[in-house]
Amino acid sequence: MARLVQKFGGTSVATLGRIKNVAEIVAESKTKHKDIIVVVSAMAGVTNKFVDCVNSLGADEGHPEYDTVLSSGELVTAGLTAIALEKVGIKSRSYASWQVPIFTNNNYGHAVIQNVDPSNINKDLENGIVPVVCGFQGVSQEEKKITTLGRGGSDLTAVAVASAIKADLCEIYSDVDGVYTVDPNLYTGAHRIDEIYYSEMLEMASQGAKVLQEQSVLYAMEKKVVVRVASSFIKAPGTIISPTAPQKRFCGMAVTPALSQIQISFKDSIQKYDNVIQNLLAKHFVQCDFVENRGKVNVMLDKRYASIALSLIRNSSCISDARYKFSRKPLSKISVVGADLNTNVGQNFIAELKKHKIDSFVGTVTLHKINLIVATEQLLDTISVLHKYCGLDK
Ligand code: ASP
Ligand code: MG
Repeated sequence: MARLVQKFGGTSVATLGRIKNVAEIVAESKTKHKDIIVVVSAMAGVTNKFVDCVNSLGADEGHPEYDTVLSSGELVTAGLTAIALEKVGIKSRSYASWQVPIFTNNNYGHAVIQNVDPSNINKDLENGIVPVVCGFQGVSQEEKKITTLGRGGSDLTAVAVASAIKADLCEIYSDVDGVYTVDPNLYTGAHRIDEIYYSEMLEMASQGAKVLQEQSVLYAMEKKVVVRVASSFIKAPGTIISPTAPQKRFCGMAVTPALSQIQISFKDSIQKYDNVIQNLLAKHFVQCDFVENRGKVNVMLDKRYASIALSLIRNSSCISDARYKFSRKPLSKISVVGADLNTNVGQNFIAELKKHKIDSFVGTVTLHKINLIVATEQLLDTISVLHKYCGLDK
C-alpha cells in the first residue's frame, strides 16, 4: 500500500465532467492505497485570463497582487474536487496553501518553497480523509501573503507535498500519457519513454518539453521523489522519473520551434558575455543559446520570453546596445538529451545532418544536452535524421 500524491493539471479539471472523472480516478486508487493526497491546478485557461486582467490594469509579474489574483483559480478547483470526491463516497477537504501551510520566500511570481508542514495533512490521512491541496500557491513566511510558484507551479506543489509527507509516488496527470522521445505531433517515429533519470528529465523540461515544470524536476531530484507522468484521459503506464532509471547515451529531444534573436554589442571584451547574460536570464527562468558573430553576440531564445529578455539585457551594465535581430530564415532549436555528451558529439550531429543537406550549428552543450540550431523550414527533416541517428526509432 503506497502513499500517493495525485496531481491533476488544467485540462484534467477543465470542466465539471473532467472533475468528476478525477474523482473516479482517485476513488479507484483509493481501493488499493489508503493514503492519497490530491493536488489541483486551475481549470484550463483560467490562469491566463487572470494574467490578462492584471496586465490590463497595468500590473505585471512581480507585483504582490499578481499572485493573489493568479492563485485564485486553484481554490475553485480544490473546492469542486473535494465536493466531487464526497459524491463518490470519499471523505475530503480542500486546502489553500496557507492552511497546509506551504511557506515560501516573498519572491512574488516565482516564490521559492522554504518549508511544507506535513502535520495537518497527516492528521487528515489518519482519519481517512483525502486532502485536496491547491497547486501553484504558497504563503510568504515573512509577509503572510499568498505567493505563486511560477507558471506550471502545481507540479512543484505536488512534488513538495510528496516529499513532506514521505509519499512513495507522486503522480502528475495531464492530457499526455507520458514523456516522449520527441513531440509525437512533430515526428511519427516518437515513442513514450518508460523510465527517465532526473537530470535528463530536467533538460527535457527546461529545453521545451512541456510535460513537467522545470523547478518541480529539480525539487524531485534533490529530494529523490519518484514521479509518474500519466494521462487522466486514457489508462496507460506513463513515464517514471526516478533515481534508479537507466541512464542512456541518448534518451530524447526537446524542440523549441520559434526562436527570437537579440543582438548584443558589449562595452569591452565579449569574453565573459555568456556567463553574465546567461546568469541574468537564468534568474528569470529564461533559457538561451549564444552565437558569436563579428564581435557581436546573438542570443537565441524562445519567442515567448523575447520581450522580458530584451528589457533585462538592456538594463545590464556590460552592454552598449541590444536589439532584435531578424533573420530571413526563421530558426528553431533541437536539444538532444542524454548522458555523457560533449561538443564532439555535437560535431558528429552536424556532419550527419550535412549528409542530408541540412545546415546546423551547435549552441549550448552540457553533459546532458546538445543544443542545435537549424532553419525552421528544415526542422522536421532534422528531427527525423537525428531521431534515427541517435537510435531512438523503435
Ligand atoms: N494554474 C497555474 C498555471 O496555469 C499553475 C499550473 O497549472 O500548474 O500556470
Ligand atoms: Mg502544467
